[in-house]
Amino acid sequence: MCLLYEIIIRGLPPHPNPLSEGEGTGIKRRRTQMSERKLVGTNEMFKKALAGGYAIGAYNVNNMEILQGIAEAAEETQSPIILQVSAGARKYANQTYLIKLVEAALATTTVPIALHLDHGADFEICKACIDGGFSSVMIDGSRFPFDENVKLTKQVVEYAHERGVSVEAELGKLAGVEDDVNVSEKDAKYTNVKEAVEFVKQTGCDSLAIAIGTSHGAYKFKGEAKLDFERLKEIKDALKEAGFGDYPIVLHGSSSVPAEFVAKCNQYGGQLPNAQGVPEEMLNYASKHGVAKINIDTDLRLAMTSTIREFFVEHPEKFDPREYMGPGRTAVKEMVKHKMVDVLGTAGHAKD
Ligand SMILES: [Zn+2]
Repeated sequence: MCLLYEIIIRGLPPHPNPLSEGEGTGIKRRRTQMSERKLVGTNEMFKKALAGGYAIGAYNVNNMEILQGIAEAAEETQSPIILQVSAGARKYANQTYLIKLVEAALATTTVPIALHLDHGADFEICKACIDGGFSSVMIDGSRFPFDENVKLTKQVVEYAHERGVSVEAELGKLAGVEDDVNVSEKDAKYTNVKEAVEFVKQTGCDSLAIAIGTSHGAYKFKGEAKLDFERLKEIKDALKEAGFGDYPIVLHGSSSVPAEFVAKCNQYGGQLPNAQGVPEEMLNYASKHGVAKINIDTDLRLAMTSTIREFFVEHPEKFDPREYMGPGRTAVKEMVKHKMVDVLGTAGHAKD
């Protein structure tokens, strides 16, 4: 059989790849650049953020271009970042692809990166992510009664802490929609101060997502935007009093849904009437008052989609995905840079 024919039929013959361990080839894995740069735990990041008066941005990753936009923004502004993956992202992109993309981000940047599971619904998904190499997970038992939430969170904390992984939990309910989380506004209730202390005491969770008026999605407020900062302070103070020090609080549903991007979407054929988010001044305030992690997803989606919509309208003759995904990626990067520099204050803190 001629060689070319064999290649066509059977594929290229295996050849030693110095960067990967061929099964049974006996080739020793050579240390790659990415194996030298490890993921960072969120506990370390939070300690520095609380001491420095800034909040780490947790950006949702769903595909390569979004991740590249975030990573480039982090590198250019020298910001530590949390890359977070939801159940929806795992379903869409496959956990293995996402982990490999994050490894690529580690290899091509110099900033601290944590990989976090966003809204883990049960023990199994948390375990799968911990076993898969995540440095942090969220167990979201907020849909359960208090005792059940405690029990589930405790189980995840035990498994995670044995493996050096930190755990975020949630108490209180956020209105809005994010992947599988769907709590109607009617049932939404803010986090109770006493319960928050009791919950942290009983579960040993490393950070706590609280409900003070933020919500998932692009339609957060009907009238004026309001966050209950009084309650945030009460929770922080009560935790301090109970011996938990400057305890890291997390805000979910914290996109700002900038009007210019909503307008751009609508200008180019979108239909997002009355979309409204959390004003950036409020997030800036939160980042200086004990909130250590702020989740941002909707704004990245808006940046990418409005840019791609514009491209399609302006260039109906184009059909190369690189030509619209490229500008989409740049829009994500610019949005994230803006958050790092002007809102969360992470810029310049990579070496803290
Ligand atoms: Zn969330």
